[in-house]
Formats: sequence, structure tokens, C-alpha cells
Amino acid sequence: QPLQAGKVALVTGGSRGIGAAIVRRLSRDGAAVAFTYAGNEAAAQALAGEIEASGGRVLAIRADSADAEALGAAVALAARTFGRIDILVNNAGVFLGGSVDQMPLADFDRTLAINVRAVFVATQAAVPHMGEGGRVITIGSTNAERMPWPGFAAYAMSKSAISGLTRGLARDLGPRGITVNNVQPGPVDTEMNPAGGPNAEAMHALMALARHGRGEEIAGMVAYLASPEAAFVTGASLSIDGGFSA
Ligand code: NDP
Repeated sequence: QPLQAGKVALVTGGSRGIGAAIVRRLSRDGAAVAFTYAGNEAAAQALAGEIEASGGRVLAIRADSADAEALGAAVALAARTFGRIDILVNNAGVFLGGSVDQMPLADFDRTLAINVRAVFVATQAAVPHMGEGGRVITIGSTNAERMPWPGFAAYAMSKSAISGLTRGLARDLGPRGITVNNVQPGPVDTEMNPAGGPNAEAMHALMALARHGRGEEIAGMVAYLASPEAAFVTGASLSIDGGFSA
């Protein structure tokens, strides 16, 4: 029997990149998986089709994480469709750059809305559907620990906020047997940060392992945190960054 058989997961921003790797992994581990996406219908349908073809239960929901009402409705739909939520993975995020003298306030607000506020919104909506053994896992970033370049203050702030939010939520939800953790990837090969992109070499120069990570590697840490074996891990920020912050 697969490890997560009978469990239900919801992954925000699950149609591409790290989120899609997490959707695939939790489905392979036996969970029914709902995921949200912002607008790329084709990628979402392709992933849902792939999961169905492999015999998994899946639900793709279009919901912009910046829209609290839409996100709350997506959580409710996932819970209604699959009966409960055991694992919430807050993965959706944006990487908007711009130094302090250039960045429009709208981009600062959007960074906060998607990378931070939505994590609170989704968690608040999901926990009423969670029982003992529930899991809340957020994808933060190694940039919470180290931001070595100009132009990314808002992004670094948003990911640092996740470590504080995680500590506080762990205290709120511990009495109910729900753990809350923060996974902090380093550079991972996705459309947000391609391994062949112009900044890849500069990133690798700062790392103990001079390469991009793969979505599957991040999904492996999420799968561990989602598993019963990780029941004693909570409030933690765990870096998986090739030594970027070492
Ligand atoms: P991608 O840009 O490759 O994929 C983003 C995914 O999130 C897509 O499925 C996209 O949907 C969805 N999404 C984007 N905005 C929203 C939104 N407003 N509402 C709902 N869904 C949304 O990103 P990555 O996979 O690279 O990043 C995933 C997470 O990992 C982010 O939180 C990011 O900050 C974090 N991270 C990434 C690193 C990297 O190097 N790649 C390093 C450290 C952290 P759609 O297909 O519809 O656009």
C-alpha cells in the first residue's frame, strides 16, 4: 500500500515547475491531489491528464492566489471533491525584481499577496478540513537566509516572512496534531529560474554544489515532511539549496 493512500493533498501553483513535481510525487505516493494554477490552462490540463492516465485522482482548479476569495473557494472545492484535506502545500509564488528606487509599489504588494498573504489564506481555509496528522508545508526560499544581489529585497522579505509565519502557525496548530514547515530551495531548474539562464553561473559560483536542483529533489523533501515519519518536525525552515546559504 502506497504511503499516502487514502490521503488528500492540495498544492497551490501545481501546474508547472516545483509544484508539478510535488503533485506527481504525492500522487505516486498514493494521495488524491488537487492543485491550483493561475492561467496556463494547457499546462494544468496536461498534468491532470498525466496523473489520470497513471491511475491517480486529480483535480485542477484555476485560482489566482492573489485573490483571497478565489483561493478560499479552491480550498473548499478540493475538500468537497475529495472529502478532506490532509496535506496543504503552499507553493505558488512570484519572483518580481527591481531595486528600491525602481520597483513599483504594485509589484511589492503583489509579492506580498501571493508569497505571504495567500499562505495565511490557504492555511486558514484548509485547517478546518484537516485532522490529527495534518500537514502544512510552504515553499519558501534560500533567499530568506541569503540575498547576495541587489534588486530582490521584496522577494527576500516575502520568503523571510514565511519562516516567521511557519513558527507561529506551528504553535497555533500543534495542539491539533498538525505540523507546519517551510522548505527553502536554492536555484531549481524551472521556467522561473532555468538552469541554462543568463544568471545560472553567478548562482553556481556561490554554491557548495555548483548546479541547479531538480523539482523532484524538492518534492522528495516535501514527501518526507508529508509522511507520518516526520510527525515530530514542526515550525522548521529546512534549506535544500546545494549549499547556497552555507
Ligand atoms: P514557476 O514560475 O516555474 O511555476 C509557478 C507555478 O505557480 C505555476 O504552476 C503557476 O501557474 C503557478 N502560479 C504562479 N502565480 C500564481 C498565482 N498568482 N496563483 C496561483 N498559481 C500561481 O515557479 P517555480 O516552480 O520555480 O517556483 C515555485 C515556488 O518555489 C515559488 O514559491 C518560488 O518562489 C519557490 N522557489 C523557486 C526557486 C527556483 O529557483 N525555481 C528557488 C526557491 C524558491 P500557471 O502555470 O497558471 O502560470
